[in-house]
Amino acid sequence: MDLNNSTESEHSALQEFCKKLPKIELHAHLTGSITRECLHRIWMQKKEAANQEGLLYDLEDPIVVIPSGKVDYDLVTCFPLFSNYIYRLCNDVATITYSTNAVLQDFDDDGVVYLELRTTPREFKETGLTKAQYIEAVLNSINDYNTSSSTMKTYLILSIDRRDTPEKAQESINLATRYQGWGVVGVDLCGDPLKGDIASFRPHFAQARAAGLKITLHFGEVAKTSAEEDLRLLLSFKPDRLSHVIHIPESIREELRKRNVALELCISCNVHAKMLIGDYGDHHFGMWFLEQQCPVVLCTDDVGVFCSPLSNEYALVAEHFQLTPKQLYDLSYSGIKTIFAGKGEKDRLESIFRAWKQEEGAKLI
Ligand SMILES: [Zn+2]
Repeated sequence: MDLNNSTESEHSALQEFCKKLPKIELHAHLTGSITRECLHRIWMQKKEAANQEGLLYDLEDPIVVIPSGKVDYDLVTCFPLFSNYIYRLCNDVATITYSTNAVLQDFDDDGVVYLELRTTPREFKETGLTKAQYIEAVLNSINDYNTSSSTMKTYLILSIDRRDTPEKAQESINLATRYQGWGVVGVDLCGDPLKGDIASFRPHFAQARAAGLKITLHFGEVAKTSAEEDLRLLLSFKPDRLSHVIHIPESIREELRKRNVALELCISCNVHAKMLIGDYGDHHFGMWFLEQQCPVVLCTDDVGVFCSPLSNEYALVAEHFQLTPKQLYDLSYSGIKTIFAGKGEKDRLESIFRAWKQEEGAKLI
């Protein structure tokens, strides 16, 4: 569909199609997926509770800190937003449970049928919450939601932050293996791409792989850290999937093709954070998907920050790369083979997509 020629009604028909389409989300940071409205509700509760005890609650209202409609966060402004603000607001079991539930409900309402959330294990000194208690609170919310009547099933990926010390990274791997039976399916390398010593994490990812966990890495986000040797070092971790994959020399592109590694591509995030030069139509999605170079999965990254739900990411690629409904279906369906959960989950998704195609097949032209 050509955006310039599309009418208002064609645009809303596309949005509706994309919302109903069963979708697979594989790159969503839990904290970054919390909406401002949800943060505001948590803030109100905390403020009232403090007032009742005659205390002053000094954290500013999320609506003021993260104004409605503001999406122009970049790598400089995004990370402090999390470390200085959101982590201070969601810092006990009650708020972590509440916000995780709200995130799950949002993805479910948007037509997501399979979700892999990711989070960095963290402790909260001011409330005494340990990393294990944090992960348990998240997993309990996920598992409660999974046993509800919802079609959507969710799994968890634990992230190592680039700024972590080797000891901290080891703690994250220990937690990932400890909670494998509860729904942790993989580990990730994330965080400010300009920080940290990635070489020090090689043994941790080897250990995760040996334990049967899958590996995904943030990869080639900024030109400065995308020297061929850095990227080859990350590839030596044997990732099952890579995300962003923006600043990639041709030699590495060839390597990714050879390995047929799955790519988690985040359109709105990359455009709003100015991680690439240009606009939606210049996104490297076009090259990877339309030239069928590697399996591609559309993802949101931080829907709470960039305000574009997964259905809207599908609508964006339809509009800017002229994809048909059949191509959108195929794009979503092809994500099944790249998920980190096992055969039972893949079979469940196969049957969901098959049933949807039978029902809505007439639209798939
Ligand atoms: Zn990310």
